[in-house]
Amino acid sequence: MRALRRALRVSPRSLLAFLFLFSLSSSGLYFVYVAPGLANTYLFMVQARGMMLRENVKTIGHMIRLYTNKNTTTLNGTDYPEGSNSSDYLVQTTTYLPENFTYSPYLPCPEKLPYMRGFLNVNVSEVSFDEIQQRFSRESDIEPGGHWRPKDCKPRWKVAVLIPFRNRHEHLPIFFLHLIPMLQKQRLEFAFYVIEQTGSQPFNRAMLFNVGFREATRDRAWDCVIFHDVDHLPENDRNYYGCGAMPRHFAAKLDKYMYILPYKEFFGGVSGLTVAQFRNINGFPNAFWGWGGEDDDLWNRVHFAGYNVTRPEGDLGKYKSIPHHHRGEVQFLGRYKLLRYSKERQYIDGLNNLVCAPSVLVDRLYTNISVNLTPALAPIGDY
Ligand code: UDP
Ligand code: MN
Repeated sequence: MRALRRALRVSPRSLLAFLFLFSLSSSGLYFVYVAPGLANTYLFMVQARGMMLRENVKTIGHMIRLYTNKNTTTLNGTDYPEGSNSSDYLVQTTTYLPENFTYSPYLPCPEKLPYMRGFLNVNVSEVSFDEIQQRFSRESDIEPGGHWRPKDCKPRWKVAVLIPFRNRHEHLPIFFLHLIPMLQKQRLEFAFYVIEQTGSQPFNRAMLFNVGFREATRDRAWDCVIFHDVDHLPENDRNYYGCGAMPRHFAAKLDKYMYILPYKEFFGGVSGLTVAQFRNINGFPNAFWGWGGEDDDLWNRVHFAGYNVTRPEGDLGKYKSIPHHHRGEVQFLGRYKLLRYSKERQYIDGLNNLVCAPSVLVDRLYTNISVNLTPALAPIGDY
């Protein structure tokens, strides 16, 4: 140590200060680049504590108002009050059909079916692809690409489920094992599209969704598209995967966020838009490379186009996430700047500037769309 000091000709104080600053900055960089997931979870926990306190105060306030004033809850056209994330105390006014309900192949399937019983027991333990392929070929009439349609009534929605994907192979079978029975219970027509990013660029979830949307709509006449993370499993089968007059955010309450909506504008995890709505907002932005921001930009796009977002009521929007030991994707630090220009960028970067020819392979339970994403696939001139 003394030799080092003599060689560098510095005082012990400044050497200590240097060492201190060096370790501080390297641990800072570690959280930004290597473990963004960890840092985000930690920040969220801190934030969540404050939110829980505020929510409790709000809930008590709401209760008092309920007793003192009769006309309290107006839900601005949605079934979930804007800005609130604890509507559990609201009485569920919905009625589900009785067990002896008879279907008609000529009538639209109802939205509130007897099989939708509510809370699901979500098992996230690993299962092999062979196992689930065997199970679904034996038990259900799933066609190639994971396509299924109810036979006893006319499906209310034709739903394409898009899943952005890279190197999460153990998640896929758990996902299908869970989602297929739920969507069948909901009597929706559906198929799955797994959009796999190849190459070595940072992950681009949003651009994968744009590619998937294009291929899926070329494949069949879908009318509703669900944008679904592979590690999100709904915990309630009454979380109906159809679309509506407004874009919908399904994943309102995640176990990893202590079942609290992280912030009012949160639009991540699982969201759904009609084909027309998605075209109208020019899809997702293509310019978000790495973790974060693309879902916030979608929120902005939806609102600039004059829509509101609806969410499932109360406990219906609960999700379990499959724990993963993958290293977090690199944070996209440019997201704040792009988000400032959401409005200006909306109609120059999205579905309309996407040029790519992915390879498409129809598998038994899903269609695999694989694509090597590069910025050249979404040129935006000199903006
Ligand atoms: N994803 C993937 N491979 C990756 C990164 C992301 O398949 O290397 C997909 C996957 O569908 C995942 C979604 O993108 O659920 C969101 O990424 P991640 O789970 O890392 O984000 P977080 O849950 O931390 O926000
Ligand atoms: Mn995740």
